[in-house]
Amino acid sequence: METISCKTPIDIKFKVPKLVGFQNKTTIVNVNGIEVGGSEVVIIAGPCAVENKEQLFETARSVNNYGAKILRGGAFKPRSSPYSFQGLGEEGLKLLREISNETGLPVVTEVMDTKQVELIAEYADLVQVGSRNMQNFPLLKEVGMCGKPILLKRGMMATIEEFLNAAEYILHHGNDQVILCERGLRTFETSTRNTLDLSAVPMLKHLSHLPVIVDPSHGTGHRWMVSPMSKAAVAVGADGIMMEVHYKPEIALCDGHQSLTPNDFEELMTELHKVSAAVGKTIA
Ligand code: PEP
Ligand code: MN
Repeated sequence: METISCKTPIDIKFKVPKLVGFQNKTTIVNVNGIEVGGSEVVIIAGPCAVENKEQLFETARSVNNYGAKILRGGAFKPRSSPYSFQGLGEEGLKLLREISNETGLPVVTEVMDTKQVELIAEYADLVQVGSRNMQNFPLLKEVGMCGKPILLKRGMMATIEEFLNAAEYILHHGNDQVILCERGLRTFETSTRNTLDLSAVPMLKHLSHLPVIVDPSHGTGHRWMVSPMSKAAVAVGADGIMMEVHYKPEIALCDGHQSLTPNDFEELMTELHKVSAAVGKTIA
């Protein structure tokens, strides 16, 4: 098997075959006209879960006005408790499509099961494989054949090598449109929901040709930390940021504590323009 052999000071050798590692070009992923992986930083924003029409539409219109380029929203939610809100299912997908048509924003939503891939690929512009499913190999194979770009989130206990091998599954099954997303690791630390590994950004970009984005919402679990960690993510070279925004976080059915208000989001966008300029990029 060909493996990546990197010229780094620590001479890392990963057992990741050729598709992810062995390319001299960088891959730009095209999400229905929005390019991820070029010189522009792409902002993905929206609620954790699609809850109802008013919540989704109000939130989507705000993030669109303030400069988001892709709308997020879970219709099928991987909740830790079976008694928590599980998402609206196909009704949520229909709402995402409707507001996408109104705003022009492409939408990203999560797939949890091989049986859902066809349905979700029909509605979504970008299909998300969540942290809990990063090593669900049948799912990785299926999304490799679905014909839509994939947002692959790093498993909360996954090494860089495991993460890249997961991406490799998708590429190997015919889909080279993969965006990697760092979303925090489970560590001994309890003050944050996860430990956001920003060192993964330069490492992944060094080892692979795929675009890398950061999710500071799940990465920290605190609304007030989303702004500083987003700025840091842009500074270390992230190709995009995905963040949770809710029109009324205090009544959110899912992850309200880590969701920005539309006002917070507007302020953060102003800051991100400055940080992007400082590192020679622009916000898409
Ligand atoms: C999400 O982005 O909706 C999500 C559930 O995140 P993760 O898979 O990173 O926990
Ligand atoms: Mn969430």
